[in-house]
Amino acid sequence: MKAAFLVDARTFEIREVPDPTLPDDGLVLQVEACGVCGSDLRRWKEGLAPGVEGIVPGHEVAGVVLQVGPGVTGYAPGDRLAVAPDIHCGRCYYCLRGMYNLCDELHFLGVTPGYPGGFAAKMALSGQVLTHGVVHRMPDGLSFVEGSLAEPCSSVLAAHQKAGTSLDDTVVVIGSGPIGCLHVAIAQARGARVVVAEVSGQRREMACRFQPDAIVDPLHEDLGARVRQLTGGLGADIAICANPVAATQTQAVEIVRKGGRVVLFGGLPKAQPMTSLDANRIHYGEIEVVGAFSYHPTMHALALDVLKRKLVPAELLVTHTFGLEQIDEAFQTAASGEGLKVVVIP
Ligand SMILES: [Zn+2]
Ligand SMILES: [Zn+2]
Repeated sequence: MKAAFLVDARTFEIREVPDPTLPDDGLVLQVEACGVCGSDLRRWKEGLAPGVEGIVPGHEVAGVVLQVGPGVTGYAPGDRLAVAPDIHCGRCYYCLRGMYNLCDELHFLGVTPGYPGGFAAKMALSGQVLTHGVVHRMPDGLSFVEGSLAEPCSSVLAAHQKAGTSLDDTVVVIGSGPIGCLHVAIAQARGARVVVAEVSGQRREMACRFQPDAIVDPLHEDLGARVRQLTGGLGADIAICANPVAATQTQAVEIVRKGGRVVLFGGLPKAQPMTSLDANRIHYGEIEVVGAFSYHPTMHALALDVLKRKLVPAELLVTHTFGLEQIDEAFQTAASGEGLKVVVIP
C-alpha cells in the first residue's frame, strides 16, 4: 500500500510499504479521509523530533473496516468508523478518575513513534486503540469527509461545554482559521452571539461564510471598544483564544466582563510559553481563565451526531481535498491560509 512519510521539515515521501499486519485483538481500516490538523502543520514546518525517523502523520481519520482480528467482537468488515488520536493508559491518577485527556502517558496516532496515522491507504487499529483510544461508528448518511471533522469538532465542543456557552452569551472568538470557524459554528449552535477577531483579511472573508454577528480587524479597530459597544458597555461573556499568539490572551482578559470566562484553546510555541495577564482584572473582576485541551472520548461521539444534524456546516469548513499523492500540495495549501480545512482522501 501507499503511505506518506514525513521525513524532514516540509518533506513528505510517498512510499510503497507492506499492508499493516492484522492484530489478533484489532482491525485493519481502509482510510477514506484524513484531515490536516494545525498540529500536523506545526510538525511539518518544524520537522521531526531528534532521533525520530520518518512517521506517517494524520489523526483526523474516517474509513471502512477491511479485516477484523479473531479476538475482536463488536466490529465487522464494512463498518464505517471515525478515529481520533488519543490513546490513554487506563491506569494513572487521571484515567482512574475519567479525565482521559489529562492521562500521564497519552500516546497519539500519527504522532507517537510506532503509532502510524491516517495519511496512508490503510492503518491498523490495535486492541489498545480499540479499548483505550477514541473510535466510534459513523452515523448513516455521514460522508467520510464529514466523519474526519469529528476530531477537531470534539475539542471545540468540549471547550464550549467547559465555558457553558449559552443563549445569553456574547462570545468573542480570536482567530478564525478552521478551528476558529468551528468555534463560531458551535457557539451559534448553543445559541450565543458571536464576534470574530481576525487579523488576516483572507480569513475574515472566510469567517463571513459562518455569519457571525460581527467581524473585527483588531489591527485597525479597537476590539475592546467594539465588544463593549455590542454588549451595552459590559464586555464579552466568553473570549476564546483559538490561535497561538500570547498577546491575544492578554487582550482576552481585557475584553471580558466581570465574571467572564477566558478559554485558552490554542497552545503557544513550545519555546515561548509565557504570557502576561492583568491579574488585578482577574482578581477584582472574578474572571475565570481556563485551559482547554483535547476531550473526553464521549465528545467524539457527540461530534459525529452534531455533524449528522448539520449543526456544523462541513461544506463551508472543508475548502480543499487532495489525493495522497498530492500531500505536499495539501500541506502547502493548509499552511498558506487560503482555505479553511484541508482533507486528504487516500
Ligand atoms: Zn487534529
Ligand atoms: Zn492514564
